[in-house]
Amino acid sequence: TKHFPLPASGRELLGGHARVVHAVDEVTLTLHRGRVTALVGESGSGKSTVARLLAHLQHRTDGSVRLHGQEVKVRGGRKLRAYCRSVQLIFQDPFASLNPVHTVRYTLSRALRVHGHAGRSRAELDQALTDLLGRVRLTPAEQYLAKFPHELSGGQRQRVAIARALAAQPEVLLADEPVSMLDVSIRLGVLNLLRDLKEQLHLAVLYITHDIASARYFADETLVMYAGRMVEGGPSETVTQHPAHPYTRLLINSAPDPERLGTGFGEYDEDGELTEEEDLGEPPSLVTPPTGCRFHPRCPHVMERCSTETPPRFEVPDPDGAPTTQWAACWLYANEEASAA
Ligand code: SF4
Ligand code: MG
Repeated sequence: TKHFPLPASGRELLGGHARVVHAVDEVTLTLHRGRVTALVGESGSGKSTVARLLAHLQHRTDGSVRLHGQEVKVRGGRKLRAYCRSVQLIFQDPFASLNPVHTVRYTLSRALRVHGHAGRSRAELDQALTDLLGRVRLTPAEQYLAKFPHELSGGQRQRVAIARALAAQPEVLLADEPVSMLDVSIRLGVLNLLRDLKEQLHLAVLYITHDIASARYFADETLVMYAGRMVEGGPSETVTQHPAHPYTRLLINSAPDPERLGTGFGEYDEDGELTEEEDLGEPPSLVTPPTGCRFHPRCPHVMERCSTETPPRFEVPDPDGAPTTQWAACWLYANEEASAA
């Protein structure tokens, strides 16, 4: 079990001026090995900030990160380096994340060396490279090792980027919109690959996406972010079939074809063209976020207390009274005993 009770706020560069922006606020999440957790939200919701904070690419101003229950300090020396090895990030754009002048062999050899997994001989290195490429199903390896990124398809590039992450022998993969820049026809293949790797290598995967339909298909658990806060969470099936928070409902209703929920391609039509998304409205500024529930200016169910009091997480009761782990940060679910968290 991987614990990530998470950083609370982040520092970002805005318009060239450094200023503290609470890009994410009171965000708590726990990742588990062998499970995919989806973090869903519109652009500007703070979901990539969560990944950057977890990957230590951005420093948290407070809050904590724990690995196996052990706190990871911002300046943690050896412990921090071990943490950074075990938590690997996969980016949205594999073309931007791979150096264009390096061959696949160079990129992967370097990653293996950095993490101490290159072996002692040329033969051991070759074996490690073959294993890595096999893991991401780029076979035979010889066909890919001498290639440069521009000689590969988008899907192949993303597979190389995944192989590079695996070179560290991580326990956690943070995948930030890993398929949103790929052709529709190959998205499912890359998601299925990630799912198989999760099983084989017993990885904890954080899958960051704006596409709640793909979260249902791919993730065991789904968390929904709005304006830097988590607003709903629970088993993916429950959150997507019976969304509780008014924002999650809006997000699901804005998918052009709810019938196709689960295919992962909700925002595309048959020809792979982007369809008009229903207007979700502008996400609020994180510099001056709305008071109380941050969704209150857009919420159809807004009540008086919503604009002044921040809703905590409430358990969402199962309609049949079955035990549930679904929760929503919304006053609609306020209940005397059941204020979880
Ligand atoms: Fe709407 Fe109030 Fe719930 Fe926020 S807390 S989502 S404003 S009902
Ligand atoms: Mg992003």
